[in-house]
Amino acid sequence: MSDIIIGIDLGTTNSEVAVLRDGRAEVLEVDGSRILPSIVGVADDGALLVGQAARNQYALYPERTIRSVKRRMGEDVRLPMGDQSYSPQEISALILKRLKRAAEEQLGEPVGKAVITVPAYFSDAQRQATRNAGELAGLEVVRIINEPTAAALAYEVDAEQPRTILVYDLGGGTFDCSVVRAGGEITEVLASHGNNHLGGDDFDAKLIEHVVTHLKEQHDCDPSQDQAAMARITRACETAKIALSDAPYARIDEEYLLPGRNPPVNLSLEVSRLDYEAMIEAYIDETLDAVHTALKGAELTVSDIDEVVLVGGATRTPVIQARLEELLGMQPRAEIDPDLCVAAGAAIQAAVIAGQATSTVLVDVTPYTFGTSALSEMNGMPYPYCFVPVIRKNTPIPTSKTEAFQTMFDGQDSVDVHIYQGEDRDALNNTEIGSFRVEGLSDVPAGNVILMRFDLDLDGILKVTAIEKSSGLEKHIEIDNATARFESEQLDAAKQRLATLIDGDAEVEGSADADTEQHRGQVRAKALLDKAERLLQSASDEDKEDLIDLIEAVRDSLEAGDEDGLKRSTDALADLIYYLET
Ligand code: AMP
Repeated sequence: MSDIIIGIDLGTTNSEVAVLRDGRAEVLEVDGSRILPSIVGVADDGALLVGQAARNQYALYPERTIRSVKRRMGEDVRLPMGDQSYSPQEISALILKRLKRAAEEQLGEPVGKAVITVPAYFSDAQRQATRNAGELAGLEVVRIINEPTAAALAYEVDAEQPRTILVYDLGGGTFDCSVVRAGGEITEVLASHGNNHLGGDDFDAKLIEHVVTHLKEQHDCDPSQDQAAMARITRACETAKIALSDAPYARIDEEYLLPGRNPPVNLSLEVSRLDYEAMIEAYIDETLDAVHTALKGAELTVSDIDEVVLVGGATRTPVIQARLEELLGMQPRAEIDPDLCVAAGAAIQAAVIAGQATSTVLVDVTPYTFGTSALSEMNGMPYPYCFVPVIRKNTPIPTSKTEAFQTMFDGQDSVDVHIYQGEDRDALNNTEIGSFRVEGLSDVPAGNVILMRFDLDLDGILKVTAIEKSSGLEKHIEIDNATARFESEQLDAAKQRLATLIDGDAEVEGSADADTEQHRGQVRAKALLDKAERLLQSASDEDKEDLIDLIEAVRDSLEAGDEDGLKRSTDALADLIYYLET
């Protein structure tokens, strides 16, 4: 038998197996997918089913199928399946055996050892039951490690200095939040908190409730008692939920939902991301409370956290990432597939035990944020060039994301689309990498929804499509090399932008009250103040003094409403910034 040790994430809903090959963690395929549903069953001919096949029969034959066995680990129970009954360890062993076999098939050699992950809150009895399951599957369990520890390892394998990592893990049915200290020799969980009955399935339930209410109100029917209809609604709602992670609207269409009804019930409902986010807000609040509890348990505060790592499929929900970023002041890391990250970490731990060299899990991500500009508020004033990120940096590629925008005027028949690469809230401080105009929009009141879809592929080609939602009218451009470096262009663009500012004709169009000279002057002054304040940190003492004097002069003129003084002081400030930046 070989020395190879496999890493296994034995999950409530899904399980995965990974190994280290050529120094890299690789999650292996089982039956054509890297995710094996943690479901076991017996077919009507008595054949054993594990994974997708068992999942397929669950709706029809729940009495012959067992799922979520992980919730029963450590209990002294017998779980009925067909005409037999089994201990939780035995059922888990069947899942582990399937993973072991898949690893052997792909590695071309027998495998006898494994590292298996468990939740941080698992008791000794639950850990022992997991160990026993491994033995029953013919695996020597060389170590049981905590799931958040594995996730931290997947991200921090190379870290030399110890780092404090918050692991936020939201799966289908469980939520855990842990504070992990990782790096150097030891990786340990300092505190953990969660709710093992909260997850993406609850989000589905909210959408299902919404659909059922719609059917009652608009179609005068109640599908709740019809199992087949509810199964279709459930599947459609999960699909819509996943779609809402990448787009601002999703449709739920199911024809002939209740057979025999005349007229037929054809469900066709659009759900907006905003409405959906309102439905799940209370759940997200609960998870953020748990973040505070975990931090308190570790006797740490938000500012002690070096890194936030996302685990579990439901963390792909953008509002979760946004709320965490708001709370913790940093962009959570999600480069490693959140469904596979724990298995990858288990494989890394396995390799360390086996004495193999390890390196970081490599994934293709975009090194830049891409987005567009829109009228919004900046420093309390309407500003037409607010940057709206669409694809955030470190997003795994290929990826496709859509955001919704609205026209500002009644009868507006065209929009100008500018595409930027960068991180600054002010789009004009980012690099413009393309632009185009969409003409021929419908003659409708302001608020006409324009969807902007950004598709970024592995070759760094960014395709931006603007679509008028009501008519489907669309226009697109393709930008090659979007992920390549733009340093020289960036410099030119910055110079040109400042030159425009110095000429005093910075373009401010489209804002409802932007038409007065005075307003233009104020917008320009505030943008320059923003920039000057940023420059303050890096300026030499002498420049700092000059900057502060001019900042104060601009502020005073703004406050006094002194138009001439404002022009003079902003011109002087623009000159100084130009000098400092070049
Ligand atoms: P896990 O238990 O980690 O496999 O997570 C499964 C949960 O993640 C299920 O509720 C899925 O519906 C949910 N999920 C998977 N992909 C997405 C996505 N792109 N956006 C939102 N939820 C997702």
